[in-house]
Amino acid sequence: MKFIETTLWQDGKERCVTFSYDDGRIEDRRLVALFNKYGLKATFHLNNPGFEKHFPQFLSDPEFVSPEEYKELYRGHEVSCHGEQHSFMYYTPDEYIRREIRENRRFLESVMGYPVRGMSYPFGSFDDRVIANCRAEGMEYARTASESMSFGIPSDFMNWTGTCHHERATKELFEKFMSPMLYGFMRLYYIWGHSYELNTEEKWAHMEEVCKTVSGHEGIWYATNIEIVDYINALRGLRFTADCTAAYNPSCTDVWIKVDREPVCIPAGKTVAL
Ligand SMILES: [Zn+2]
Repeated sequence: MKFIETTLWQDGKERCVTFSYDDGRIEDRRLVALFNKYGLKATFHLNNPGFEKHFPQFLSDPEFVSPEEYKELYRGHEVSCHGEQHSFMYYTPDEYIRREIRENRRFLESVMGYPVRGMSYPFGSFDDRVIANCRAEGMEYARTASESMSFGIPSDFMNWTGTCHHERATKELFEKFMSPMLYGFMRLYYIWGHSYELNTEEKWAHMEEVCKTVSGHEGIWYATNIEIVDYINALRGLRFTADCTAAYNPSCTDVWIKVDREPVCIPAGKTVAL
């Protein structure tokens, strides 16, 4: 029997890099320019306009990207939910959580013109009840505010802890990411943060260094958060014969697996003998 491993990203790559930024402050403009310069993909988690009035204690005169700019600015990246009011969902009623997502989705979708299917938890505040409510409102993934400092893929995308905040995206961590894999698992390097934290030229220089370091590698797939979710769902959705001699891909996404350690593509809608 052949050795089958469902451990490859798009185009048979073994590694994937994604970025995730919250709150939609005007510093996103410079950050997007940086991502575009280095051919990187990111997801931007945005609230409804005016949410900041609930948090005068934290925000001194913040400036936000205007919705008229979203389409142009975030082109090629993903716009995703972050709650209508940026509330602490753990401390709010079910009805309020659902409204947080529903109204946020409606607003973002009206601007972007596509289904908005993911989110990051405002303040990283969530539990199983929050997950259930967000899922009920159509969310397919949600990023926490924790750091795994590793490169795994979550079993449940509604509890998605990234690798690290950009401050800890060091050269050493990237070297670990790129190091040879003993068992050939697929790796994901997930960097998150807030563009307004980049408030000195020194911090911007670090961010540019991070982008430069992770960019331009042949063996890395650069993807938005939802592209990763769609790909992994397609990969997990493969159907195998009982003896794993054939695989059927019922999705509309081409996926890659390893057969005796060699990459094999299972095209969308096709059955492949292995
Ligand atoms: Zn936030």
